[in-house]
Parts: sequence; C-alpha cells; structure tokens
Amino acid sequence: MLPPTTTQKPTAMTEKQHPVNPYYSRTDTTSLTLSDAVWKEVLSPAVYEVARHGSTEHAFSGKYWDYEGKGSYSCAACGNRLFRSDAKFASSCGWPSFFETLRPNSVLYRRDSSFGMARTEVVCGRCKAHLGHVFDDGPAPTGKRFCMNSIVLDFEPDKE
Ligand code: FE
Repeated sequence: MLPPTTTQKPTAMTEKQHPVNPYYSRTDTTSLTLSDAVWKEVLSPAVYEVARHGSTEHAFSGKYWDYEGKGSYSCAACGNRLFRSDAKFASSCGWPSFFETLRPNSVLYRRDSSFGMARTEVVCGRCKAHLGHVFDDGPAPTGKRFCMNSIVLDFEPDKE
C-alpha cells in the first residue's frame, strides 16, 4: 500500500505573527506607543523578542532572506508598511536585505554601539519595533543595505 500523499503545507510556520493584535494596521501611520506588558500580550513570543528586545534571528533561518515574491513588507508588530519587494536584493548575509524603505519615515534610526560596534539600528517608524540595522555596503542607487529580521516582517503579495 502506498503512503498517503500529503498536500498539507509544512507546519514550520504555524505560529501566528500577531495572534490577537488590535493595534495592527497597514493604513494607520500615526505613532503607536504601548506598554511592554501590552506588547507581550499582543505579539507572539518570537516577534516580541526581536521587536521589543532587539534580538537577532539566526542567519539563513528566517522565512524571507531568499524570498523573491512581489509585494510589500510590513512591520509584524504594528502593520506599518516598510519595504517594497522591488527594493529587495539578493544578499549573501542570510537576512532579508533592501536598498531603500517604502517611505522616508517608514523607519527611524538609532545609534547602536552594542557589542563594541558602531552600527545604525533601524526601528519601525510607527511602533519603534527593532527591525535590524542599516549598512553602507548596499547596491545602487542608494548604496544602503537594510539588513532586517524576517520574523518582524509581514509579506503581503501584490494583487494580480
Ligand atoms: Fe511597527
């Protein structure tokens, strides 16, 4: 007897990105300030760790580092639109990389001198979630490399 054919999708992504998050919006760009306790309640533990505590996912472990779908990437914590797939480029670093943001104020920048390095942290322009860092070794036309954590990004495909 043949084994049953499986048409089910892999179960690796069963964790919901925003289980019960009433603050999530892809259209509202007004600043969102919530207490740590509320963030902990509305985000999945993995998103919370990166977004609110600046953790970094392992290279090549996230769902978007080599993803090539056409669409938009939003903040997984609040829904704020961050990047277009047109600005994504193949990077060997193991994290999704973009050369520009969707709007100039999609993100905010903070100096980060942790681990003895002088880096520029990138946070969500709406909710200040930690997203990753930006470096000056990206491709034309900007020369920037926004090195992001997949876990704090939500991908929305373009409508046909
Ligand atoms: Fe956000």
